[in-house]
Amino acid sequence: MYSLAFSILFVSFIILTLLVRFWLASRHIRHVLAHRSAVPAEFAEKIPLAAHQKAADYTIARTKYGLLTLMVNTLVLIGFTLLGGLQWLSVQIFSLTGPGMVYQLALLAAFSVISGAIDLPFDFYRQFSLEQRFGFNKMSKGLFFADMAKGVLLGVAIGLPLAWVVLKLMNSAGDLWWLYTWIVWSAFQLLMMVLFPTVIAPLFNKFTPLEDQSLKTRIEGLMQRVGFASKGLFVMDGSKRSAHGNAYFSGFGAAKRIVFFDTLLARLQPQEIEAVLAHELGHFKLKHIVKRIAMMFALSLGFLALLGYLKTQPWFYDGLGVNPLALPGQGNDALALLLFMLVLPVFTFLFNPLTSLGSRKHEFEADAFAAKHTDARDLVSALVKMYEDNASTLTPDPLHSAFYDSHPPASVRIRQLNLAAAA
Ligand SMILES: [Zn+2]
Repeated sequence: MYSLAFSILFVSFIILTLLVRFWLASRHIRHVLAHRSAVPAEFAEKIPLAAHQKAADYTIARTKYGLLTLMVNTLVLIGFTLLGGLQWLSVQIFSLTGPGMVYQLALLAAFSVISGAIDLPFDFYRQFSLEQRFGFNKMSKGLFFADMAKGVLLGVAIGLPLAWVVLKLMNSAGDLWWLYTWIVWSAFQLLMMVLFPTVIAPLFNKFTPLEDQSLKTRIEGLMQRVGFASKGLFVMDGSKRSAHGNAYFSGFGAAKRIVFFDTLLARLQPQEIEAVLAHELGHFKLKHIVKRIAMMFALSLGFLALLGYLKTQPWFYDGLGVNPLALPGQGNDALALLLFMLVLPVFTFLFNPLTSLGSRKHEFEADAFAAKHTDARDLVSALVKMYEDNASTLTPDPLHSAFYDSHPPASVRIRQLNLAAAA
């Protein structure tokens, strides 16, 4: 009875999510098309029509491709759950391994292999057809597969031990397993923040200390003005994979580093780079990063508590097309984990506008910080160049943007910065 109700609820949320996503995408495409023929007035002197139209075409192509992958992912989700894919897989593996930890780890591994294999052609197409067509792909096919192999090895080296610990806790730590798992998970996240910049990212890219002396002096001056200490300024060879440019922070505490993509350095003037960095430093000084981490920890505690409850409810499995081979004490914890990870996004999608709103608020604050410590006009000209180079549309549909965008639309951001510059 409960399981049927849960199936119906699950299907209703899938349909609702699909409808909202299709509606937003079609609005977005129509809006971008309607503004394709002319560069918006405030950008008319800075961005050529051809670049504006390329951004429109790129945006539309990506939005359409997003709908295709959405359809496929939804079919895969239903296939694994209601159509019995996960049930079938678990029976096959169980018959090979028998009950126990090996069964559970093998089930997680098999699921990862299958979903990775489904994603592969779509990732390949995105990189070598879509990105290629707009001149953004700089990757060879060899590099694509080398990245993939490294990703798989990392997944095994990091994911398998973590899964083992979590399954062990689920099985033998009693009713509060989810709380202990949360502690382990949080510690793991913090560890990754240290390991990512120092160990993992260098497996994929080369990081060289920033050599340009005058730029270095300029940046060090900025860091001193705003009171920021860093372990170093690095340039990353982002151009090896993509023409998209960026700058970011990584690590925390004493291990903080600032990373510039070589593509960004090649394109921006020194004062523009300083302004972009001031924006990034704003995120740090205004505690946006700490707040984001605290939020992530709070959410994962809530979700793990929920999983702690769901794991003991038969309707959670039955309602999602799974009939656990529950042998007392030998657990179906891997199944509970997989089901939870599969269906959670279906139920949280409609909260997207809230996280986007929070993120855009932080972006405005970081822009204001940059305007205070550098010349706002430099950030404006840097943004215009970055929008043009990344073929980001200047005319998104307002609702689509409110729903998904972590950054405010270019025109709104630039209007605010111009006000700051005039003040
Ligand atoms: Zn930002």
